[in-house]
Amino acid sequence: MLTAPLSRDLGVLFITSEVYPLIKTGGLGDVSAALPAALQELGVDVRLLIPGYPKVLAGLRYKRKVAGFSGLSHFPPFLLWSARLPAGKGASKGVPIFVIDCPSLYRRNGGPYTNTAGQDWPDNAMRFGLLSKIGAILASDASPLIWRPNIVHCNDWQSGLTPAYLHFYQGRKVVSLMSIHNLVFQGVFPPSTLSRLDLPATSFNINGIEYYGDMSFLKAGLYYSDHIITVSPTYAKEIQTMPLGFGLQGLLAGRSDHISGIVNGIDSTKWDPETDPCLAQNYTVKRIAAKAINKRALQQMMGLVVDSDIPLFGMVSRHTYQKGCDLLLQVAPFLARMPAQLVILGSGEAGLDREMAALEKNHPGKIAVRIGFDETLSHLIEGGVDSFLMPSRFEPCGLNQMYSQRYGTPPLVHATGGLLDTVVDCTPATLADGSASGFLFHEMDPRSFLAGIQRVIASYCNKTTWLRLQRNGMAKDFSWRLSAIAYRDIYLSLLPGLYK
Ligand code: ADP
Repeated sequence: MLTAPLSRDLGVLFITSEVYPLIKTGGLGDVSAALPAALQELGVDVRLLIPGYPKVLAGLRYKRKVAGFSGLSHFPPFLLWSARLPAGKGASKGVPIFVIDCPSLYRRNGGPYTNTAGQDWPDNAMRFGLLSKIGAILASDASPLIWRPNIVHCNDWQSGLTPAYLHFYQGRKVVSLMSIHNLVFQGVFPPSTLSRLDLPATSFNINGIEYYGDMSFLKAGLYYSDHIITVSPTYAKEIQTMPLGFGLQGLLAGRSDHISGIVNGIDSTKWDPETDPCLAQNYTVKRIAAKAINKRALQQMMGLVVDSDIPLFGMVSRHTYQKGCDLLLQVAPFLARMPAQLVILGSGEAGLDREMAALEKNHPGKIAVRIGFDETLSHLIEGGVDSFLMPSRFEPCGLNQMYSQRYGTPPLVHATGGLLDTVVDCTPATLADGSASGFLFHEMDPRSFLAGIQRVIASYCNKTTWLRLQRNGMAKDFSWRLSAIAYRDIYLSLLPGLYK
């Protein structure tokens, strides 16, 4: 059995292409901030490695030069800085960070992956090839630093070549771990890129970096890493099959013994009904009746009929096929005929935005729709509705179903990915054992979704059942601490192979 004191001996190099608050384009930026901070709280010596984009260089604290490199294969010269991330709320010190300051690759206006017009940077292979290469150097006996990790944790395609570089390195090297946050982006480049990246021609092989005639950074990471992690146990299984493997299902199924799923945590300071400034009324599990004030405020604000007894459903999401918006559109007219109301907040594909907006026109007073991104309203919806809808076709982890449970708003979700792993379906057995916290529907069709909605309404009408569901959900721990413990245990389980 692995125990906590071992954390002290763990050194983890966490390679990422974005980290909040310095630079963020999506979920990876949040995870790269929250997970290392939670690992640090457990005593793990975790340090980040990131490219020196202008925003990163401008936001560092205690910056000092630790190494300089010139003539590293085809890469331009660069410096390596050591610094600290800004400390989060309540954290004593920020997580240490190494920054690759290579002006010709990273110091430019635009995003981390694209220019100001939204086009991929043409030299992305070199930009993230360098990130991967330095990751491999710092994770081996070629490192110029005194500090040595015993695990290198790569994230998404941008650091996918690190395990490949380590594989072909002859000296001492540490265990590598590849995290998948988004399998859709695979870092695919023409085969001619390989020689500029200082990788041997032999790696261009189906058992290696080759991917349908091109090369793929992500495939390299998945093939050469010692272990693979994704953001929920169910999604870890789903990506080993069509269609959710996005072309990598064969490789992933072949490595199934080396794949784990760990559910992300949530920011439990920002998403707390007791202190949330976006709510009309704060509440706790002991004062759950006060939640009704948020329902009234939301109904008034959205132009719905104000009625404390009618079950009010909510949905906040990107309007895409992944999120099951098409299913919601099919079911909404039936929901409008029931004793129920619906609030929708989201934006995305123009056609879906239009069809969602039309729901309000066709069902005034019963369905209200806001097209756009509105952080404040999303909090009021979590606090104000009775049940939250997530009919996602697939969902690697998902966040809103966790927010909902924390807000005493039992969610109805499609039984997929992280939704299946974090919501316990309401049945007589789960009500009896105190685990029921929401509702699952199993088939991605209107009949199954509608049956789920009817189950929610029936349970809502039983005040004892509903209160139990709310209390169970609010008592659950979705903190990053639990995720960090699971990551730490995987790191430790890999350590018998410390120096391969
Ligand atoms: P994904 O990352 O696939 O979009 P997640 O559930 O993991 O889905 O996270 C999405 C986050 O973005 C949630 O916190 C959700 O509330 C928020 N969000 C999505 N659309 C909107 C919107 N229109 N307004 C406010 N917040 C939104």
